[in-house]
Amino acid sequence: MGISIDLTKVRGIDMHVHCEVDDHGHTALPQSFLDASAAYFKAGVRTPSVAQIGERYRQLNLAAVIFTVDAEHKLGHRRITNEDVVASAAEFPDVFIPFASIDPHRRDEGVAELRELVGSGRVHGLKLHPSLQEFAPNDGTAFGLYEVLAEHRLPAIFHTGQTGIGAGMPGGGGIKLRYSDPMLLDDVCADFPDLTVIMAHPSVPWQDQAISIATHKPNAYIDLSGWSPKYFPPQLVRAINGLLRKKVLFATDNPVIDPERWMADFDQLELKDGVRELVMKENAARVLGLEA
Ligand SMILES: [Zn+2]
Repeated sequence: MGISIDLTKVRGIDMHVHCEVDDHGHTALPQSFLDASAAYFKAGVRTPSVAQIGERYRQLNLAAVIFTVDAEHKLGHRRITNEDVVASAAEFPDVFIPFASIDPHRRDEGVAELRELVGSGRVHGLKLHPSLQEFAPNDGTAFGLYEVLAEHRLPAIFHTGQTGIGAGMPGGGGIKLRYSDPMLLDDVCADFPDLTVIMAHPSVPWQDQAISIATHKPNAYIDLSGWSPKYFPPQLVRAINGLLRKKVLFATDNPVIDPERWMADFDQLELKDGVRELVMKENAARVLGLEA
């Protein structure tokens, strides 16, 4: 199955949307983590169904990359399956581009699942969350997953920087921020030159590192999710307008950030001619291997 998004019709591709609940009502995160993160993000509906997200994106004329986060090893909480995400997303083929999520601690069994999902064309990339999944991206735990993606020329989205998950909980819910230091991804970019690495979010407190990596490594990109463009640091806005205009991607982190709000705030940024189109759609089309 290829991607059936009509690029001439959609006005943007949101590279970062979470499936937080499956169609059986099972959530990606334990309830305590969901409650804490809802307070942190002041999100309205924290766990909309995939169908609700699909309807909304269809109305807004947007496509979206959608995935869950499999963090069973760290959280001890049963994951939403990739099968469920793929099945729910399939109801909106004009909207959704499903990515897999595999806990790297599943090792060979996880690699086999990814190989199967990718080989059958049901997913078009992988989402990883080093802090929530508790692994260092350069320590080997996930190398088998990278190899499958590199072989198929599919991208990996890595959470980078601070996370709202665990925020305010005792010990931050036991979640360690250092795993989400983008410098660890510089190693991955160097050692897996055929792997497209998408560093998600303005990587607070490592924004300059992310900009350096995306400048130096042709296979490194930045997705702009998780923050309203209103709060983008000035060096990021400068990079979007200049050196990195072909390396940055429209992305929200829905359901914690609403796409309409993100786009309204993005409209307020002073950007050079053509940059908006690159960020909203053209760069994503290239990363996803879609015909422009
Ligand atoms: Zn995410």
